[in-house]
Amino acid sequence: MKTLYGLTDKEVLELVGSLGLPKYRAAQLLGWVYQKNALAWEEIKNLPKAALQELSKVTALVSLEPFEEKRSADGSSVKFLFKTRDGHLLESVLISNKDRQTVCVSTQLGCKIRCAFCASGQGGFVRDLTAGEIVEQVARVSRMTGKKITNVVFMGMGEPLDNFDATFKAVHILIEPWGFAFGARRVTVSTSGIVPKILDFVKSVDGRVRLSVSLHSSIEEVRTKLVPINKRYPLKELLSALRKVNQGLKREITFEYTLIAGVNDSDEEAEGVAMLARPLHAKINIIPYNPVAEFDHKAPSPEAAEHFCAHLKKLGLHVTLRQTEGKEIDAACGQLRLDRAQSAERSLNTARDSGLVPRD
Ligand code: SF4
Repeated sequence: MKTLYGLTDKEVLELVGSLGLPKYRAAQLLGWVYQKNALAWEEIKNLPKAALQELSKVTALVSLEPFEEKRSADGSSVKFLFKTRDGHLLESVLISNKDRQTVCVSTQLGCKIRCAFCASGQGGFVRDLTAGEIVEQVARVSRMTGKKITNVVFMGMGEPLDNFDATFKAVHILIEPWGFAFGARRVTVSTSGIVPKILDFVKSVDGRVRLSVSLHSSIEEVRTKLVPINKRYPLKELLSALRKVNQGLKREITFEYTLIAGVNDSDEEAEGVAMLARPLHAKINIIPYNPVAEFDHKAPSPEAAEHFCAHLKKLGLHVTLRQTEGKEIDAACGQLRLDRAQSAERSLNTARDSGLVPRD
């Protein structure tokens, strides 16, 4: 069954028409879902009960349910696990920073890219999320925390451009006035570098939302080890596409750079990053690596991270050093979900060993 979250204005209008309801009911429903973030039919007040009953026979309202919530000690970030209707877990994170409340949404269950430092890839790929499952994360985080969300970043589990149609539809719902009505510059879509889809995406959203690219190294071999898709779409091709985005379409680019001790934190790397970023006027977000039990990589010391940033700044770049918020809440991408999936697997094995459940 489809869900109301994830439908566009036109689709809601069609739905309302198919039930013989007047057109203005579509605008009311859109307001209840995307502006007031209703999560149960009973919360929708100004539609007749009979109309809601008819609607509920042909569409569900939501598709997620809360599963777990973990708050960092200082309360600056909260990680949420939601359960999908088919029983899988997905992650969303709220990062609070002064007047900014940013929700980081997932676009896939797991990820096919398998970056060498990311728990999402390790958990395996299950399926794409629907546009409804993507935007419902924003509504649920807002309702569960009582916070007015100001920004949305597509940087959770999954590669957004590998789930192109749902990502595009979710962005559309987030920025249109009949939807969540976020300012387009407050929505950022991040990619590991699926080159052919980058230009398609920027054109399809008319360059309105921000584009962020996971760089992680300026050296081909190192980047291929960290972000295996670099083998298919090497830096040379990626940069040529980004030049078109920046110079042809006049759109800004941000590079995300996970700084890993002894892997990509050398002065040579900083100089390479500067060479790539300067012609694109790209901003750089440095994220000190947040250790994941499954990998041997180490976090850089605070001094090494400061040094790398200072070096980039000296080379004339606009650099932000992000704090690894929520180390204690397993905030690395996909980490909490992986952890819970592994615990579930361990419990199942124990139950099998003790004969409580049959082996497959
Ligand atoms: S970092 Fe992003 S693209 Fe890479 S494996 Fe993790 S979720 Fe996928």
